[in-house]
Amino acid sequence: MVSPALSLRDLRVTFRGSSGPVAAVNGVTLDAYPGQVLAVVGESGSGKSATALASIGLLPESATVDGSVLIEGADLNAMSEKRRVALRGSTIAMVFQDALASLNPFRTIGRQISDAYRLHHHVDRATARKRAVEVLGRVGIREPQRRVDDYPHEFSGGMRQRAMIAMAIVNEPAILIADEPTTALDVTVQRQVLDLLTGLTDDLGMALVLITHDLGVVAETADRIAVMYAGRIVESGSVLDIFDRPAHPYTRALLQATPNLEAPGRLAAIPGVPASGTNLPGGCPFHPRCAFAAAVGDACRTQRPPLDPRPGSDQHRAACHYTAERELPHD
Ligand code: SF4
Repeated sequence: MVSPALSLRDLRVTFRGSSGPVAAVNGVTLDAYPGQVLAVVGESGSGKSATALASIGLLPESATVDGSVLIEGADLNAMSEKRRVALRGSTIAMVFQDALASLNPFRTIGRQISDAYRLHHHVDRATARKRAVEVLGRVGIREPQRRVDDYPHEFSGGMRQRAMIAMAIVNEPAILIADEPTTALDVTVQRQVLDLLTGLTDDLGMALVLITHDLGVVAETADRIAVMYAGRIVESGSVLDIFDRPAHPYTRALLQATPNLEAPGRLAAIPGVPASGTNLPGGCPFHPRCAFAAAVGDACRTQRPPLDPRPGSDQHRAACHYTAERELPHD
């Protein structure tokens, strides 16, 4: 039995806001396995990015974190800051959405990658530079020997994202968290970057946690999917479970709002607005927007549905009073 590289157990993140506490993550439990891609999907404000930042210990001081983050079995929230810093970049690394904002404009790409390498390896500059050239080549930068001395503004958007990935994998981490890594890229480059990330997951045996608002991005990329709403996982399962037999009305609404070339048609917007972390609705937090709540009655407004296993699949789980007893009707 393979152990998870990253395990979150009842993770809760609350921010101190100007008008009171903001509950961003409300009891997330998940596992990410070596050599697999776990996609965490949801609208803006669903708690995906706060979950990602808590997993690598990069939340601001205004955040309170409860629950556990186990990185190869070691609890991030119980270890010293020194140990956390040592793990960050070596065992767990992160790729952010905006490569231009994340790279230092005054340092060459090669210098930034070799600095990341030297933080965790006692090597001289020449050796680290050689490693930077090697990983730039590995992420598909042509003529890495020459481009290693370029500054970020001399790279295109796609190349900068590749450089960020190179910096993240230079120490061959066990876990890579990629937070909306393709959002700022055009569609062709998006595909290339996703293919690169999945190729690296296979080659390096990493656990890749792919954070995205776009279900279309994960269909051909993920092994497993966790759908988040209001800081909770409302459905999880294999790609087939989520795409072929969604068991949560929110997942189905997300799918109906995703363009599909094989079944073109009008996209359906999800009614209402995402639940606010400052004033979460009672019961199921999706109930003010849910087309099925009326068929269930009071329970949707008063009782939080547990994330229960679904019949017919050992991975599939959903948190919904309606589908706990019946299937969603066909469209
Ligand atoms: Fe809709 Fe009720 Fe299911 Fe929530 S529990 S998704 S409100 S039917």
